[in-house]
Amino acid sequence: ADLHHRFIEKTAASRQWFERAQKVIPGGVTANIKYFDPYPLVMASGSGARLIDTDGNRYIDYNLCYGALMLGHGHPVIQKAVNEQWDQMGTTVTGTPHYLEVEMAEKLVSLYPGMDQVRFTNSGLEATMFALRLATAWRGRNTIAKCSGHYHGGYDQVLVSVQQGEVDENGFPAVTADSKGLSAYWRENTVVLPFNDWERTEALLIRNHERLGAVILEPVQSGFLPPERDYLLRLREFTTLYGIPLIFDEVKTGFRLGLSGAQGRYGVIPDLTALGKVLGGGFPVGAVGGRQEIMEICSPTEKGDILTLGRSGHGEDVLFHSGTYNGHPSVMAAGMATIRVLEEPGVYERVEQEAFFLRQGMEEILDRHGVPGYTMGDGTIFNLVMPTDKGYRSTNLLQGDKTLRQRLDFALLEEGIYLKPMSRFSLSTAHTHEVVKETLTLFEEGVKKIK
Ligand code: PLP
Repeated sequence: ADLHHRFIEKTAASRQWFERAQKVIPGGVTANIKYFDPYPLVMASGSGARLIDTDGNRYIDYNLCYGALMLGHGHPVIQKAVNEQWDQMGTTVTGTPHYLEVEMAEKLVSLYPGMDQVRFTNSGLEATMFALRLATAWRGRNTIAKCSGHYHGGYDQVLVSVQQGEVDENGFPAVTADSKGLSAYWRENTVVLPFNDWERTEALLIRNHERLGAVILEPVQSGFLPPERDYLLRLREFTTLYGIPLIFDEVKTGFRLGLSGAQGRYGVIPDLTALGKVLGGGFPVGAVGGRQEIMEICSPTEKGDILTLGRSGHGEDVLFHSGTYNGHPSVMAAGMATIRVLEEPGVYERVEQEAFFLRQGMEEILDRHGVPGYTMGDGTIFNLVMPTDKGYRSTNLLQGDKTLRQRLDFALLEEGIYLKPMSRFSLSTAHTHEVVKETLTLFEEGVKKIK
């Protein structure tokens, strides 16, 4: 209550904006995930690893727009690239093919082992949706398999069993809806797999493989819960054997776990890959890449007939994919600039080292103050779990002491560490050793407040 009270005292301007917003925007937020109680902070500006809110409070940002900002806020290389694109083309968007999308597609094909061809979208949501359409059309079956607890975007088909926790008496995950307003069709045509539990996954796949058009998963759950490599390998073997397209949703892991994402890190190659977030350099983006045989079923060209207009229209013989802003030149320019920075030698190693240093430091501080807590992560993203019992480790995010974690998160906000309460930590190239050391000092002050 004390921490809430001090939060409210320091954030009067945020509260005023929120009150205005609430009248014209449901819940005062443009995405449900941005909300937290009592109200979300309204940010005014950002630079490097830092954000400043409308009250002038300064924060070191560990949310980084849900992991999208791998170079931090306002990187000058991105600004320059977008300005140059504007200067060169004289417009932000042509509504036609252009050189930047070709260069970006070539770059992705060269970096991602699972990609022969690529299409662009405007968000991660659209990317996984299109990947599922490609896969189910190619295979000719409509049911999909997804993992319990895995998020693929906010649309009907995949808002099934995102909230993790329920299992039936045999340990199989329940098939549940994650929103109001969803047709029962999506639950009836979804097989929900337990991530990292091959025995039960295999049993479900054996029972359902004939009706499966795709298996989709986050190779690293929520970007921080690593896969057992064996789990990925067996999933790959099974889907290859039965000819079911395997989709890696690398919206979060793409360009986070290195230049080739989780598929590069774990050496398991999917048939289709969805990308987003980091790829856009802070602008809205998504991409789907994969095996040529599958990707080209969306091609509108009809070979051999130069008079045809192609299959660009609608109809049952077409695999439709479109979008006014797909391959947007400014976004492609920002993304290419981001990749150029990330391709410099040692960049990932350095950010991962800082993430490791931060995690170790946080655990050491918690330990020293007798506050139970440990971190869990992969590369540059991690979560902080406050266990209810000492020594207790669980992969289930619903477990653990949420009240304690929430109190810590508000104490951290007060100290100047920005994280949406209860969410994970992401680092960027702007999180230098100095910034991380400063974070640990602030973190210790926060921990003292919740003892
Ligand atoms: N897939 C994963 C793994 C994600 O983390 C997200 C976003 O958080 C999405 C898909 C959806 O992407 P977007 O929010 O760009 O629609």
